[in-house]
Order: sequence, then structure tokens, then C-alpha cells
Amino acid sequence: HIRVRFCPSPTGNPHVGLVRTALFNWAFARHNQGTMVFRIEDTDAARDSEESYNQLLDSLRWLGLDWDEGPEVGGPHPPYRQSQRMDIYKDVAEKLLAGGYAYHCYCTATELDERREAARAAGRPSGYDGHCRDLTAEQIAQYKAEGREAIVRFRMPDETITFTDLVRGELTFTPENVPDYGIVRANGAPLYTLVNPVDDALMEITHVLRGEDLLSSTPRQIALYKALMELGVAKEIPAFGHLPYVMGEGNKKLSKRDPQSALNLYRERGFLPEGLLNYLSLLGWSFSADRDLFTLAEMVEKFDIADVNANPARFDLKKAESINADHIRMLDVKDFAAACEPWLRAPHAPWAPEDFDQAAWEAIAPYAQTRLTVLSEITANVDFLFLAEPVFDQASWDKAMKGEPAALLTTAREKLAAADWNDAEALKNAVLAAGEAHGLKLGKAQAPVRVAVTGRTVGLPLFESLQILGQDKALARIDAALA
Ligand code: GLU
Repeated sequence: HIRVRFCPSPTGNPHVGLVRTALFNWAFARHNQGTMVFRIEDTDAARDSEESYNQLLDSLRWLGLDWDEGPEVGGPHPPYRQSQRMDIYKDVAEKLLAGGYAYHCYCTATELDERREAARAAGRPSGYDGHCRDLTAEQIAQYKAEGREAIVRFRMPDETITFTDLVRGELTFTPENVPDYGIVRANGAPLYTLVNPVDDALMEITHVLRGEDLLSSTPRQIALYKALMELGVAKEIPAFGHLPYVMGEGNKKLSKRDPQSALNLYRERGFLPEGLLNYLSLLGWSFSADRDLFTLAEMVEKFDIADVNANPARFDLKKAESINADHIRMLDVKDFAAACEPWLRAPHAPWAPEDFDQAAWEAIAPYAQTRLTVLSEITANVDFLFLAEPVFDQASWDKAMKGEPAALLTTAREKLAAADWNDAEALKNAVLAAGEAHGLKLGKAQAPVRVAVTGRTVGLPLFESLQILGQDKALARIDAALA
């Protein structure tokens, strides 16, 4: 039975890299009818925050990435917040010390720095040199007498570690590249290096899928796992797969701090969860050579970790938007109307709630659905229906009113007043005829009408818009523009 985990630290705001990791784990679990474990790695009290924790949960819920074990849902391995598991780590650290798998290290930061520099200068590996590996009782007594504090350090076996990465194939790490490493701070606080594999072991994780930035911890974790197996804490070493880096602008690694990487930005702009997830799935994976638009269910059906590419993936906002636009179009119009709702209300909407007209909204929604890239665009597209007066934007007016729009508008008003408003085609013919009378093509002729009625030079199909606004209001706006 496959068990994967998503185990973020609650620091800062959720970002797209995190979501990509969650998504691949989730899709892998769902494809294999496995179990998705959600664990919170909040052992760094200085950096972790409750706000960030709440945002993580809220984001996963919004995205629809559900979990089978974890916060709020429980499960057989509670608690799922590491800050509540300190006794467990203390106990394991003691077992590791007692078994000789770890030792107390009394080196000070200054000493470590000096020796690292010296090793570098001599062209030797500059990791921890094993100084405290085998201290005698006298040396230990001496260090204690000096008032030194000890961290707990894991003793790496003097052997080469090889494993088959699910994405990258066979990888080999030689001992000089993986020195002994700290697992508990001098103040007793356990580190990521300990708590992460200990929990993976206790929660019986079978597959670890995570970012490439964590690749260097894998040989350490495998060695720690072996010790945990000998101590009876772990059953088996999980398989590891490292997802490729995501590159942002200028071909630099997309960082948490890049504005482009903030998940909230996508949510606030009105990405659909399924649109965003579809796009993020393409960061390292592909559905097929000729198709990059699919539903989450289709992704789950097809997802295989063996198809993940080891090469860095490029984050492309334009592509993300175009995929989102496609997902907006794929919605049932009722669902589209419902999805837009937050943007039709305060604080996004500039009209008073009582001026919102449900019937007009339902009538215009199908025309809007094919035009939006992100849902937040809906507000400006339909505001002419709900505001008492059209938005006035000088630049739009100047642009549309070039030449002699007054004469054209007067004619258009006449023809529109005489037209059949039950027929959008008739409204179009009215403006077409007005244009002809002034030697203007339809495009040029409709621009002043559009600006007079909607306040904007671009927007939804004009004649349907006029119809939905209604004859009285539309003509009154043209009159106001002419006045
Ligand atoms: N808490 C770690 C992080 O957010 C988890 C890394 C891992 O997946 O092992 O980077």
C-alpha cells in the first residue's frame, strides 16, 4: 500500500513550488489508491507561524487537494504537527546515542569554521571532520568542565550510499561527500534532519516525492533509516523521487520570494484551482506530447512518477493564464456564474449590492465566459450593467471619439431608437447603417457607441451588451455622451 506525505513548514505564504510538490504527491497517491499524509513540520518556533499554518490548510482545501491523514482529519499516527511530537524525537535521539549511531559533539562554531577553512585551503573535503566521533571519557569530562555544550551528531557509516531515484535513476554518494551531521541542537531542539525521517518511518511512508533542493539530504536520511531499522523504529526505507527545479524569470530558480510564486496572487486574480493545478502539473510532468489541457481526474488517471522529467521546468505565466482561460471555458455556464460571484460583490465590485441584477448577470455570463483569462476580470467587463453611469476614462473617450463622433453618435442613436431590441442583429445593423451614413466601417462606428454606453473601448460583444442593458438605459447614456 502506497503512502506518501506532504510535509511543509508553516513559514511565510504558500508558494507554487510547494503546491507542485503537494500535487505530485496527491496525484501519485490517488492514482495508486494510496494514502496521502499531511504533516506539519513546525519544529522551528522562531520561523513557524499559526497564520501560515492556517493558510496552508486553507490553500489545500481551496485547491481540492485532500488528505487522508493529517490535521483536522486525524489518522493512525497522530499528532500530525511535529511541535506536538517532541517526546518521540527525544526518545529516538536517546536510542541513537545509546546504540552508538549518534554521538555528542562539543566542537564550537569557531572551531568548526577554522577547521573547515583549513580543509578548504588544503583542498580536502570541508564537511565535518569527525573530531568528536570517538572521544574518551576523559576528553568528554574535560569538555564538560570547560562548560561546552554538545549537539547530537549522526555517525555516517563509512560506506558509499547508492539508491535509485524515481526521477533521476541510480545515484551514488561517497562518504567524503556526506559527513556526520547534527540532529539535535545544544538546547535539545531536534532538527529537520532527524524529525523528518523519523516521522516518515513512524508514519510508514513508502514514497518520498519532494523538490530537488532536498536531494543532498537523501543519503543522510537513508543512513539514518538503516539505523532506525536496526533499532526497530523503521520497517523499510522509502523510495525517493526528486522533482525538478522550477525556473522563473531570467532562467533563475523560482524562489519563495518571487512575486510570481505567491499562491495567493493566483487565487486573488481568479485562477480556477483546476486551471492552476493543470498548469503546475506541467512543471516536470506531461500528460502527452500533444495535449496540455486536462482535468484533475484525467491527470490522476495518467500520473506516473516514472514520467517525471529530471530537467528543470520553466515557469511561464502566459501559459498558466492561457490554460486557466481554457478551464474557464470548460465550465458549465452555471458553475462559471457561481465561480465569478466573489468578484461581483464587495470589496471587488464598485456597485452597490442592491444595484446588482441577477437576471442581467445570467444573460451576460455566457458572453463573458469565453473572454476571461482570470475571473477577476469579470468586474470591469460587466460594471456597465450595474453602475448608474458608465466608467469614465478620459483616454478611452479620446480614443473612441476621434474624428467627428457626435454626428455618428446622433445617427446611431436615431437608428438604434428605431430598431428591434429583441434582436441583437438588428442593433448591429442599426450601427452599421449609421457608420455607412458617415463613411465608417462597423469597427470604427461602434467604438463611440461602446464608450458612451460602457465607458470602455474594449469589452464584451457590444450588441448583446446593449440588449442586456436595455434600450432606455443605453439610449440615455448615448444622450448623456452627446450632451
Ligand atoms: N519541511 C520540509 C520542507 O518544507 C520537508 C522537506 C521534505 O519533503 O523532506 O522543506
